[in-house]
Amino acid sequence: MALSGLDIFKKLPKTNCKECGFPTCLAFAMQLAAGKVELGKCPHVSDEAKGALSEASQPPILKVVIGEGDEAFTLGEETVLYRHDRTFVNQSAFAVTINDDISEEEIEKSVSDINDIAYERVGLKLALESICIKNRSGDKDKFIAAIDKVSSLTKKPMILVSADMSALKEAAERFKDLKPLIHAATVDNIGDMANIAKETGCPIAVRGGSFDEIMELTGKLKEDGIRNIVIDLGSRKLKDDLLNQVALRSAAIKKQERSLGYPTIVFADEMTDDPQMEAIIASVFVAKYGSIIVISNSDKHNVYPLLVYRQNIYTDPRRPMQVEEKLYKIGNPDENSPILITTNFSLTYFIISGEIETSKVSAWLLVMNVEGQSVLTA
Ligand code: SF4
Repeated sequence: MALSGLDIFKKLPKTNCKECGFPTCLAFAMQLAAGKVELGKCPHVSDEAKGALSEASQPPILKVVIGEGDEAFTLGEETVLYRHDRTFVNQSAFAVTINDDISEEEIEKSVSDINDIAYERVGLKLALESICIKNRSGDKDKFIAAIDKVSSLTKKPMILVSADMSALKEAAERFKDLKPLIHAATVDNIGDMANIAKETGCPIAVRGGSFDEIMELTGKLKEDGIRNIVIDLGSRKLKDDLLNQVALRSAAIKKQERSLGYPTIVFADEMTDDPQMEAIIASVFVAKYGSIIVISNSDKHNVYPLLVYRQNIYTDPRRPMQVEEKLYKIGNPDENSPILITTNFSLTYFIISGEIETSKVSAWLLVMNVEGQSVLTA
């Protein structure tokens, strides 16, 4: 369990100097215990206390990075249950499944489709983050060949799923420089999986049938110094997984239960065969609280709504969404066309640009930077 606010307070300088932005050391300690402030905000903590408080200064959901290089993505670091309490920090990552029993041509097509998903909306790039390679064939060589093929076609981080320990071990060793997520450690193989994690540095998913089992698994990995852990609560049923996700996030954030304070992975692709139902299921876990959501396909009509929905959930509610300050062309305006002026609040921009397009009158739209405020507020 994490330290309480009073435990932390005992290790602070108790000078109430206010340099951390809080009126007293006790107030700072309470916020630190709740994961709402970082230990570094107090410049007077001794090195000895820093060591003792390092865990308390971690967010209740630990940070985990999947992959290597420019396309690596970060999970966790969440500190609140509800977005409106503060903000969610690291958006859910979408991973598309590729099974290892399909042909090379089909793998090439799937990876190309996944790579092609790239939109820009409100100045932000929308894309799929990851590819989940499943050892559906049960054949180790096919699994390795599929991973090899995928990694030659994309820099997107991979999630490697197999029930065969020797296949996972070989895959982790051969592709360790790419830091894929290895799925999954269970009560039956935890010793071997811990060794893989220690030897390769790859993040590890743990799969358990109950919270007690998950806590046992994360506890064992932690004893071995392994923190790059992702939790699979694994019922593969929408209702059960949703309830489990909420219970896990509550335990980690409200009760500061460190053994459950890790990002999660949800397999929406294994909950239904209907692609549209799968998109709906995935959207549920964007809000509650899937860190990685595995889907079966990259069909644009399913993926684009998910990407937009995720963008809306994971923007910071304290900062209005903004578009770039510049002169926008709507239609084919020339030197005689009207110029309209508005603010850079994205909703305002989209409403006004839409109205101009509907009017069929080509125009210039001059967008001013007013820090994302609407026209009346600005
Ligand atoms: Fe206490 Fe440190 Fe905050 Fe000063 S900066 S009030 S010593 S916690």
